[in-house]
Amino acid sequence: MPELDLSLPATSAYVAKALEEIGITPSLVGGSGLTFTLGNAATSGKTVLLRADMDGLPIKEETGLPYASCNGNMHACGHDMHTAMLLGAAELLKAHENKLSGTVKFLFQPGEETMHGAIEAIREGVLEDPHVDAALMVHVMTGMPLPEGTIVASSTEGIISASSDWFDICIKGKGMHGAIAGSGANPLETVTRIYLSLQEISKTMLAQGETVVISVGVIQGGTANNVIPETAVLKGSVRTFSDSARLKAEVMIKECAQQTAQQCGTTAEVTYIRGCPSAITDHDLNQQLINTIIDCYGESSFLDINKLMPGGRLPGSEDFSFFTREVPCTLAFLAAGCTSDGYIYPIHNPRTAFSDEVLHRGAAIYAGFALNWLKSNQL
Ligand SMILES: [Zn+2]
Ligand SMILES: [Zn+2]
Repeated sequence: MPELDLSLPATSAYVAKALEEIGITPSLVGGSGLTFTLGNAATSGKTVLLRADMDGLPIKEETGLPYASCNGNMHACGHDMHTAMLLGAAELLKAHENKLSGTVKFLFQPGEETMHGAIEAIREGVLEDPHVDAALMVHVMTGMPLPEGTIVASSTEGIISASSDWFDICIKGKGMHGAIAGSGANPLETVTRIYLSLQEISKTMLAQGETVVISVGVIQGGTANNVIPETAVLKGSVRTFSDSARLKAEVMIKECAQQTAQQCGTTAEVTYIRGCPSAITDHDLNQQLINTIIDCYGESSFLDINKLMPGGRLPGSEDFSFFTREVPCTLAFLAAGCTSDGYIYPIHNPRTAFSDEVLHRGAAIYAGFALNWLKSNQL
């Protein structure tokens, strides 16, 4: 029953029940999020946060699997896997609570896909009381030529995923008969010119050494062959790695829309929404994570993200990035479906599938990392 955005009542109730069965009572945070701590009352130590997201996507599932979603939404990003893995980690750490040299805070987070969840949980104080000193998230991967169970992490600190912002450009022109379209103020012409100019912004910024990906997903306007409409709309998304490129892209897109509209005798209204920043990892936490992966599953199970992606950076984004801007963080990616085993569809595809054979690995990495990090960072 994949649910969307911040409101996951059935998912949240399911997770709360599973936790209560092992003697844990969670509290609500950030919409349908759940949080609680485990720790050895005899030792006062630092606090490490383990975060899993739980939300699905508004995609109609076409996998044909016996357990496929029937409610019109889909866990096409594997967040149900993350939820299961963090539940596994909770069970493991609850059973070994007396071995913890500090506190483990858990966060089952809604609203990742919409970028509302992390920021909402932070606003509601999930990083305080007790104050969080470090954080880890795990994400599954599928539809890639990576052996099942491979765990990817970064040996280098810094930016690991892109920022994600959106823009809506609404052009107002002058509706008229198609026969006199040449007389100006055609919003469709403005939108077309803006579309082409946006590609130039990417090229200009690349020439200045900054990567920006601007994609247009919506162009709307007009109703009939011989009628020039009053308005037209263009919507897109923007991804960058550095904060300076993020700001520069925003300024350039707004300028491009205004100037192009003016040249065409139309006006532009730009709504620019900041989604999430790029995610940043911490050197010491990355090392601790890699040691945990190798301890648990051996050298052959670990893959450095620098060998997978140029510069060790993912083009996608993750709202966990909000946590990475507050406390030292690290991220692991778990291969849960190899192309050669028939897992040929990427995440967010209606036919994407994941192998649940890897769930124990995710649970162990979450639990092992928390245990090891607290041990090596005792007060
Ligand atoms: Zn996703
Ligand atoms: Zn995801």
